[in-house]
Amino acid sequence: MHTRAGQTGCCEMADKRDYYEVLGVSKDATESDLKKAYRKLAKKYHPDMNPGDEKAAEKFKEASEAYSVLSDPQKRSQYDQFGHAAFEENGGFGGFDFNSADMGDLFGDLFGDLFGGGRRSSGRGASNGPMRGANVRTSINITFEEAVFGCEKQLELNLREPCPTCGGTGAKKGTTPQTCSKCRGSGRVITTQQSIFGMMQTETVCPDCRGTGKIIKEKCPDCRGTGYITKQTKFKVDIPAGIDNGMSVRIRDKGEPGVNGGPRGDLLVEVHVARHPVFQRDDTNIFSTVPISFTKAALGGKIRIRTVDGEVEYEVKAGTQTDTRIRLRGKGVPSIHNKDRRGDHYVTLVVQVPTKLNREQKKALQAYAKACGEDN
Ligand SMILES: [Zn+2]
Ligand SMILES: [Zn+2]
Repeated sequence: MHTRAGQTGCCEMADKRDYYEVLGVSKDATESDLKKAYRKLAKKYHPDMNPGDEKAAEKFKEASEAYSVLSDPQKRSQYDQFGHAAFEENGGFGGFDFNSADMGDLFGDLFGDLFGGGRRSSGRGASNGPMRGANVRTSINITFEEAVFGCEKQLELNLREPCPTCGGTGAKKGTTPQTCSKCRGSGRVITTQQSIFGMMQTETVCPDCRGTGKIIKEKCPDCRGTGYITKQTKFKVDIPAGIDNGMSVRIRDKGEPGVNGGPRGDLLVEVHVARHPVFQRDDTNIFSTVPISFTKAALGGKIRIRTVDGEVEYEVKAGTQTDTRIRLRGKGVPSIHNKDRRGDHYVTLVVQVPTKLNREQKKALQAYAKACGEDN
C-alpha cells in the first residue's frame, strides 16, 4: 500500500479527486489504458464539443490534469507516493497551464485524428509556423491476380504545387506581400475573456490575413494570389503482393503542399480489387470449385486444377465423394508482410452426374447396374 502522506492536513486539496478515480482506471493501469481513458473523457468533455458548458469544462480540466500527471512516469511515481501533495510546493496545479508546450504536444498526439489533423483545440499560435500539408486520398482498381502478385500502376493526379511565377507568395512579380498590420504577421489575434479558469486568452486566426500573416496588395496573375497552381502529375504506385480489397498504399510527400515551408502531406491510394470468376479469397487463402466426372470420382485419376500460378495436376483418389475439399499448399496469396509466406488454395471437388447419355454410354451404365445387382 502506498501512503498518502499529503492527503491529511491539506485542506486546500481536500476536495480534489484521486487522479485514478478521475480517469476511471485502476492503480496499475498501463500507459495505453490511461491514454484510452483520457481520450474518451476528453472527447466527451472537450470545450469544443460543449461550448458554454462550464461543468464540462471543469471535467475536461480535471481529466487533463490527471492525465498529464499519470502519463508522465516520474510524476506518476511521485503522485503514487505522496498524492496531490507531491505537486503542492510549486503551487500544485493551481497554475495548471493549458497552453503549455507539453499540453500542446499531448493534444496533437491525442487528437491528431479526432479533429482532422489540426491542433485547433490547443489554440496555440503555431498556425503561422511550418505546417505539414493535408493527406490526399484517391483510389485505384486492380485485378485479382494483380492483388495476389503485386503490380506497378501509373497514376495521374492533379496536385497542388507552389506557384513558380511568384514562388508561392501569391504576390505579383516585383511586389512582395506586406506584413499584416492587424496581427503584425503572427497570423493570430488574441482576445481576452472571463471564464471559469479566470481570465482566459483565446487565440483565433487573424480575419484580415486568414492566418498567413501577410497581406497581398497586387496578386500574382498565374495563381490569382493563392500561391499555388494545380499541376497534372504522373507517378508510379507500387502495389505490394498480397494487398487486399480496401487497403491503402501510402505514398509519402504526394499530398497537399505544406504551409510556410512545412513538408507535404501523403497520398493514400485505396485499392479496389475486382472479383474473380473462379477464385474467391479470404485473407491469404484462395477458394475454388472444380467439377469432376463421376467415373473419375469412382475410379480415381489425374485432373488439372487452375490456380493463380497456372494449372497444376492433381491425383483424385478412387472413391472420392462430392464436396470433398482438397488443399493445395502454398498456392494461396502471399502475406503482405512477407511475400515468401503464402496461404493455401482450397478446392472443392464437385462430382457431376451426366444429364445426357448416348446409346453406348447408356449400355455401359446398364451393364454396370447389372453388375451391381440392380434390376432395371
Ligand atoms: Zn503565383
Ligand atoms: Zn493578420
